[in-house]
Amino acid sequence: MSKRLFLSPPHMGGSELKYIQEAFADNYVAPIGSQIDNFEESVKSYTGAKYAVALSSGTAALHLALRINGIGANDKVVASSFTFIGSVAPIMYQNATPIFVDSDKDSWNMNPELFEEACKKHSPKALIVTHLYGMSAKMDEIINICNRYNVILIEDAAESLGAYYKQKHTGLFGKCAALSFNGNKIITTSGGGMLLTDDESIAKEAKFLSTQARDNAPHYEHTTYGYNYRMSNIVAAIGRGQMEVLSDRVAKKREIAAKYKKLLPNLEFMPEIENSKGTYWLSCVLFKSEEQREKARMLLESKNIESRPLWKPMHMQPVFKDAPAIINGVSEDLFKNGLCLPSGTAMSDSEIELVVATILEALG
Ligand SMILES: *Cc1c(COP(=O)(O)O)cnc(C)c1O
Repeated sequence: MSKRLFLSPPHMGGSELKYIQEAFADNYVAPIGSQIDNFEESVKSYTGAKYAVALSSGTAALHLALRINGIGANDKVVASSFTFIGSVAPIMYQNATPIFVDSDKDSWNMNPELFEEACKKHSPKALIVTHLYGMSAKMDEIINICNRYNVILIEDAAESLGAYYKQKHTGLFGKCAALSFNGNKIITTSGGGMLLTDDESIAKEAKFLSTQARDNAPHYEHTTYGYNYRMSNIVAAIGRGQMEVLSDRVAKKREIAAKYKKLLPNLEFMPEIENSKGTYWLSCVLFKSEEQREKARMLLESKNIESRPLWKPMHMQPVFKDAPAIINGVSEDLFKNGLCLPSGTAMSDSEIELVVATILEALG
């Protein structure tokens, strides 16, 4: 059996171990130290965010974003239905009510008209909009609606590090945003996340809450409760090394997508909307039917090639069966017919060609 071709495996840049060794040499093997400061600085300068707080996960970043923005029981939070569970589980942590909004055909991300409908019907306090698979949502339309209905904008940029909308990095459009450095993201720290914001008080609060909310006193004094969400200095050392190659990774992901598109001209790919630059974190294609998709997926699997159906929409998940949802059928179709193709940045041309040949074979 040939070695497995994964969807998006970790791809180290080369400096990560050196920075980990620095952390060991300093004996800063804890959630404090210069690797964290360095990693935060490099993400700030790459994205243009004013503040960045390194955390244990992207889910933690979204949880802090909701808590800091005062989202609690009885509040309603609109979210993209077509997303990963980590995007919306924090709504449950805060005992708030999620309201799911479907995708539109030309972005696969949140449909602005349906979002407006959700605002009229439910008066939500906040929105978590996901930039899925490295591709920006329609931010002009969405920001407009947030302003008109007074909705706090939080961006789930966990999959969109390196992606831009109108030359501005995704995650810089609202009050705060979450990045993720989970194992299969465009860069990884083995696990981790970051909260981005332009608001100094939010950044301070995020640091405070992510380190158990300790007040200023020689002993441990607490006027509120927090979380153990801060990133460790060791993990940050990996992130620091990964940031050095992020631009290369984005270029390679885009190159992989371009090759797939060229070699599979009869399949529809995830759109890159006007005025945006996506990373194509995962190259995603649509088949004509679920049967075709499954044939392709199974044949790829038989050759030890990993592929995966697109995210199952949140409004279809048993855990959210009672949550309000505004649905147009788009994300259900994407889930039914769509497939994520291997998109690892260490892939060779012949591996891409093997994936393509296998798909064409399945299509007969
Ligand atoms: C990965 C991911 C998250 C969660 O990030 P973790 O670091 O795994 O907690 C949230 N939303 C989306 C869309 C993701 O892909």
